[in-house]
Amino acid sequence: MKQLLKNSLFYGIGSAGLFPVFRRFFAGRAAIVMFHEIQRDCRSELMTGTSVDLFEYSLSWLQREGWAIVSLEECLAQLARNDRSRRYAVLTFDDGYRDNVSVALPILERHNAPFMVYVPTAALTRTMQSWWLGLRELIRSREDVTIDSMGFRFRCPDPRSKRYALRKVEQWVHQDFKRVATLTMTFNKAGISMSALNDRYFLDVRALQGLSRHPLASIGGHTTSHAALATLDATSARDELADNRNYLENLLQLSVRHLAYPYGDYGPREEHLANEVGYVSAVTTRHAQLSDHQPNEFALPRIGVSSSFDSETSFAARMSGVQSAMLTLGARLGRA
Ligand SMILES: [Zn+2]
Repeated sequence: MKQLLKNSLFYGIGSAGLFPVFRRFFAGRAAIVMFHEIQRDCRSELMTGTSVDLFEYSLSWLQREGWAIVSLEECLAQLARNDRSRRYAVLTFDDGYRDNVSVALPILERHNAPFMVYVPTAALTRTMQSWWLGLRELIRSREDVTIDSMGFRFRCPDPRSKRYALRKVEQWVHQDFKRVATLTMTFNKAGISMSALNDRYFLDVRALQGLSRHPLASIGGHTTSHAALATLDATSARDELADNRNYLENLLQLSVRHLAYPYGDYGPREEHLANEVGYVSAVTTRHAQLSDHQPNEFALPRIGVSSSFDSETSFAARMSGVQSAMLTLGARLGRA
């Protein structure tokens, strides 16, 4: 309901032709946009990614509105130069899904848009505990789903109740990432194979090697196992970062300089470790644009775009800074 209200407000501001006014006062100087899967059939994947139409629209919108789509390296260099003549957008994809190549790449090529793909080692070796894919598969294929460790049973015969169940269990996991391990039993009982899901959804080694040689592509690190780093002790967290970076550099024979924290989960310790193992930047899932010419390179915010939350209008609104304006206003009213 809140989302509906927000979307209508965005729509009202947009149709009144006010986006340029907001942009002048509230939009940042650069934005790092976050995608995961780019799906041809969003509904059958329970609206977990970005639809191909919204993806195509985002790129067209950015270019039409005068944003320069550049690589992350180029964006950081432009910010450091403090050149205010243009706005810069960086496109990033987390986890290394197959559809980034089969669906997104032709569109990126058509727009001549550079992009970054952050890849965890375990996606390539098919050993990742991709619990979000397991849950989606479980809920998609059944009308009754019991999550034993959560002590919850969902009746989900239609798309709407399936999306609700998926969201509820995801929220439960995000409250405590140690709960990931407890889902393994549920998946085993349902005969869901993690390695088969990894194989179906994630790029394989050869495909990633091919992608890494594409002139528009950069490859970044995303840890070995995609663990939430804050749940690990310092040595394990450091190993997750360093081993993944070494693995990718050996595999691709190029230097891997940029990192995305899994789940955007980070703090001062993770920032320090990322720097120590040789990264020059790290992105989070904190929702904001970049407005400072000297941002903290190890805590870069991103604007996530997914079809379950976004329409074309809300994408235009958040890139125009309408959302930041509302947050600022909200904070002021809250203080008053
Ligand atoms: Zn990820």
